[in-house]
Amino acid sequence: MLHRLKTDFRLSIITLLGASAILGITPFAAMRFMQGNTLAGSVDTAILVGILITLIYAWASGDTRRSGLVLAVIACSGAVTVGAVVGEPGLFWLYPCLVTTFFLANPRIAVFLNVASVVVLMIHGGAFRSDVQMWSFASTAFVVSACAYVFAHRNHDQRERLEHLATIDPLTGIKNRRSMDQELDLAAANAERTGLPYALVLLDIDHFKRINDEHGHGVGDDVLTDLVALLKQNTRKSDQLFRYGGEEFVLLLPGVDGIGLKAVMNNLQQVLRKYMKHPGGAVTASFGVALLRHGEGVDSWLARADAALYEAKETGRDRIVFADLHEAPEPAADAV
Ligand code: GH3
Ligand code: MG
Ligand code: MG
Repeated sequence: MLHRLKTDFRLSIITLLGASAILGITPFAAMRFMQGNTLAGSVDTAILVGILITLIYAWASGDTRRSGLVLAVIACSGAVTVGAVVGEPGLFWLYPCLVTTFFLANPRIAVFLNVASVVVLMIHGGAFRSDVQMWSFASTAFVVSACAYVFAHRNHDQRERLEHLATIDPLTGIKNRRSMDQELDLAAANAERTGLPYALVLLDIDHFKRINDEHGHGVGDDVLTDLVALLKQNTRKSDQLFRYGGEEFVLLLPGVDGIGLKAVMNNLQQVLRKYMKHPGGAVTASFGVALLRHGEGVDSWLARADAALYEAKETGRDRIVFADLHEAPEPAADAV
């Protein structure tokens, strides 16, 4: 539970806002019933029930986009109704709603909700003692909304940049090992659920250190970016390429096995042989390929691809070794 709160920003916002709204509104709902104001008490109770259901839905389904939107709508329409029913004291409830819409829904919807809430209250007019008070309310609501928008926008921007820095390799622009771990876990889970075959290719440039030593790191870097461009051009959109580290890359190929996989690998090898060059001549690579077995964990899958790559290096480099050709296939692996 704590892990989900830490990793899912929108869920944490929904939970925080939902919980504080429940804590803040419950005493008022009770007080209004005790004072005999059944209408206001019922409005508060309806808001509480709506928030509670949205919270439960967000946690159960993980659909925080929809839950956030619903929570923003409940909060704004609830605050407007409270303002219309109890008058001036109810207006104060709209301020926290105007701020939180930007964290719960996308900016356009948040702006629409905020403007609509203020306009509806102004048209109703019953909550205001005078025109001056009404326009003061509208102006302060605008200032609060503008500040919340700027803050939410910056927060969103910084989160995206941080995520980019944490998951993308700066030299080649492809996903790094951290993203790879997540994608391999997802692939294994998907294979288990749907039976889709997945192949994992570990690719290591041959004698890359020599290229660096003889021609400089700049040339080495160019070789890495050229290789990534070639691999991207010659794989499907659904295939994923990761920089595993240094001059090693991982290709995750969904939906291929058997003869199809061999054809893909031979084609890649031919393309690299034809186009991968550096000032001193050709650049070759070695490949270790492993198909995900039924029920296999990611560590074992990677280890088998790594062992196949090691064999490719040991037996002369510039070659492809398929882990599954030497290993006795597990009975269920054939079904995959
Ligand atoms: P092998 O055929 O056995 O794979 O030999 P190799 O020389 O390719 O392998 P080795 O592991 O000895 O050397 C890898 C080199 O990759 C050493 C390291 O300096 C270089 N390297 C790692 N990351 C980068 C990078 O981002 N840019 C450049 N230019 N070189 C890098
Ligand atoms: Mg190498
Ligand atoms: Mg290496």
